[in-house]
Amino acid sequence: MTRILLLGGTTEANLVAQAIARAGLAGVYSYAGRTEAPMGQPIHMRVGGFGGVEGLRSYLKAEGISHVIDATHPFAAQMSSNAVAACAAEGVPLVALERAPWVAGEGDKWTQVPDIPAAVTALAGPPQRVFLAIGRQHIDAFAAQPQHMYLLRLVDEPTAPLPFPADVVVARGPFDVAGDTALMQDHRIDVVVAKNAGGKGAVAKIAAARALGLRVVMIDRPMIPARPVVRTVAEVMAWLNG
Ligand code: NAP
Repeated sequence: MTRILLLGGTTEANLVAQAIARAGLAGVYSYAGRTEAPMGQPIHMRVGGFGGVEGLRSYLKAEGISHVIDATHPFAAQMSSNAVAACAAEGVPLVALERAPWVAGEGDKWTQVPDIPAAVTALAGPPQRVFLAIGRQHIDAFAAQPQHMYLLRLVDEPTAPLPFPADVVVARGPFDVAGDTALMQDHRIDVVVAKNAGGKGAVAKIAAARALGLRVVMIDRPMIPARPVVRTVAEVMAWLNG
C-alpha cells in the first residue's frame, strides 16, 4: 500500500501535499517545527525532528512508509542527507523535488559566496543598510559586522534580543516584486544577502534588487549526497505512480 512521507516546510512541498490529496493517496506532511504556526495541509501532518538517521529509520518502519518525497528547502542539508541514508538503509524509494538554482543575468550585481561565514566576510567595509534575507537561523554570525543597519524579514516575531541593530518585518512568503521593491526603497537598502534557494516563492527580492541596481551577496547551496531529483510536482506524481 502506498504511504508517503513528505518532508516539507516549503511552498513546493505544499503543492505536492495538494497533489497527493487530489490523487487520494495516503501521506504524512512532516514539518521541522521551526515556525510557531505551521500552515495547515490537506494530508496528515506531524511536527518535529525524527532523531537523526536512526530515528528516521525507525519512523519509516513504524509507519510503514512506502515512498519518501524530500521537498525541503535546498539549504536543509541535514534533513536531506538523513533522508538519503535512512531510505537507503530501509530500502524505501526516495525522490527529491529540488528547485533549479537562480542564475545571475543581465543587470544582476551578485557577489557569490560558498557559505554563511563567507557572506559575513563579504560585508566587511563601511556601514550600509543590509537586507539580511536568510531567515532566522544563521543571523547571529552577522554580529561580526555590527557597523551595518540590518533589515530582517522573519516568519515569527523574534523572541530573544537580536545580536545587532535591526528593523524586523514579520511576514510569510511568497512575496512579489512590487512589494519587495517598495520594502527595499522604504528601508533605503544598499545590499541584499540571500541564499540561492531557487524557485519562485523567494525570487522577488532578487528581481527587486536587480531593478534597484543593488548588490546581492548570494550564498551558494550546501552539498547534499547524490539522490534522484525531479523539478516539478507533476514529475513527483509520475514517480509515485511509476
Ligand atoms: P536542517 O538543518 O537540514 O535540519 C536539521 C534537523 O531538523 C534535521 O536533522 C531534522 O531533525 C529536523 N528537520 C528538518 N526538516 C525537517 C522536516 N521537514 N521534518 C522533520 N524534521 C525536520 O533543516 P533546516 O535548514 O533547519 O530547515 C528546517 C525546515 O525549514 C525544513 O523543513 C525546511 O524545508 C524549512 N526551511 C528551511 C529554510 C532554510 O533556509 N534552511 C528555508 C525555508 C524553509 P532530526 O535529525 O531530529 O530528524
